[in-house]
Amino acid sequence: MTGDVLHVFEKLKIQIQADLIYCEQIQAPEELEQVALLSSTGFKMNTLWQSSMLDGLDLPFPLQEMPDIFTQFRQKVEKQKLRFAFPIDAPKSIPSLPVIEISSIKAFDGNTSSGSGNFRGGEQSAHVHIQQYFERRLPDAYKQTRNELIGMDYSSKFSPWLAQGSCSAGSIARQLVDYESCYGANDGTYWLWFELLWRDYFRFLHFKYGKKLYYSKGLSNSPGNQFDSEKFYKWSSGNTGESLIDAGMRELKKTGYLSNRMRQIVASYWIYDMKGDWQAGCAWFEYQLIDYDVYSNQGNWLYIAGKGTDPRGGRPFNVAKQTQDHDPDGIYRQMWLT
Ligand SMILES: Cc1cc2nc3c(=O)[nH]c(=O)nc-3n(C[C@H](O)[C@H](O)[C@H](O)COP(=O)(O)OP(=O)(O)OC[C@H]3O[C@@H](n4cnc5c(N)ncnc54)[C@H](O)[C@@H]3O)c2cc1C
Repeated sequence: MTGDVLHVFEKLKIQIQADLIYCEQIQAPEELEQVALLSSTGFKMNTLWQSSMLDGLDLPFPLQEMPDIFTQFRQKVEKQKLRFAFPIDAPKSIPSLPVIEISSIKAFDGNTSSGSGNFRGGEQSAHVHIQQYFERRLPDAYKQTRNELIGMDYSSKFSPWLAQGSCSAGSIARQLVDYESCYGANDGTYWLWFELLWRDYFRFLHFKYGKKLYYSKGLSNSPGNQFDSEKFYKWSSGNTGESLIDAGMRELKKTGYLSNRMRQIVASYWIYDMKGDWQAGCAWFEYQLIDYDVYSNQGNWLYIAGKGTDPRGGRPFNVAKQTQDHDPDGIYRQMWLT
C-alpha cells in the first residue's frame, strides 16, 4: 500500500481491525511528525529504538551533551571499551496472526526493482552476504580497498541491508569481534568498526540537534546556495560535462548505489563547483539510494557542506586530483559513460 501515511493506516485499521502500531523509533523530524500524527488520531503507537550499534544508554554522556567532534566522541566510546550493544533475546513464541482476508495487501518480497542485481532483500540474504564477507576474510583488506570505485568487494556493501533493517549494526560488530578473536585484529577490522561508529555518531547527533540538522544553514550561520533547476538537472542526470561526476551520477541512477568516495566527490562538486543547494543534492540521494538512511545521508551532506559539526567547515574535493587518484586509467568512467 502506498500513499499518505494517515490515509494508509486508516484504511488498514478498518481492514484488519487493529489500532496498535509497532515501529522503529526514527529520531528525524518527518518521521517523528508522522508518529505524532498517528498518535493524535487514535492509533496506539509503540516505537522502539533499534538501529544503532551501541546502546545510547551505555555511552558515558547523555546524548544531549554528546561531543560535537567525531574524534572526541570516538575517544570517549573507546575509553569505555564499547564495541556493540547486546541483542535482546529472541521471543520464545509469537502469537499467530488473526485470520483475516487481506486481499489488497500485497506481500513484500524485499527485492529492489531499481537497484543493482547484487542486492537481494531480506534477512536471509543479509546473513548470506555478511557470512561470505567474513569467510573470504575481506575485512583484512578493508582499509586498503575502501576508497576504490568498482566491484562488490572493495567495501562491505552491508549498507542496503542495514538500511532496510534486514541486519543490525550491533550483530555485524559482534561478528567482527568474533572474527578478531579468531584471526587477530588489524587496521582493516578496526576501520570497519570505525565506519560503523560514524553511522552511530550521525544517529546520536539527532538527539542533540533534532530539527536544526534539517535547516538550510544547518548548525552554521549561513544558508546553503540557491536552488537552480537547470543546474540540478545537469548534475542529477549526469550531464555536467565533467566526466568523473557524470559517471558517478549515472552509476547512482542506474544502480541506486555509489561508493563512499564517489558520494563525497559528487556531493562536493554539486555544492562547491556548481554552487548547488546542498539540500537538493541530499534529497536526490534520498530518492535514489537503495541504502538510503536518513541519519547517514543528512549527516554526510551536512559534513561536506560545512553545515554540521565538523570544525573544518566544509570538505571541497578537487575533481582533477580525485580523478587522477581514483580513476587514472578511466576504467570507471568508461564503465558508466559508454
Ligand atoms: C553524501 C553522502 C551521502 C551518504 N548517504 C548514505 C545513506 O543514505 N545511507 C548510508 O547507509 N550511508 C550513506 N553514506 C555513507 C557511506 O557512503 C555508505 O554507508 C557506504 O558507501 C555504504 O557502502 P558499504 O556498506 O560498502 O560501506 P563500508 O565502507 O563497507 O562501511 C561499512 C558500514 O559503515 C557505515 N558507514 C560507512 N561509511 C559511512 C559514513 N561516511 N557515514 C555513515 N556510515 C558509514 C555504513 O553502515 C556501511 O555499511 C553517505 C555518504 C556520503 C558522502
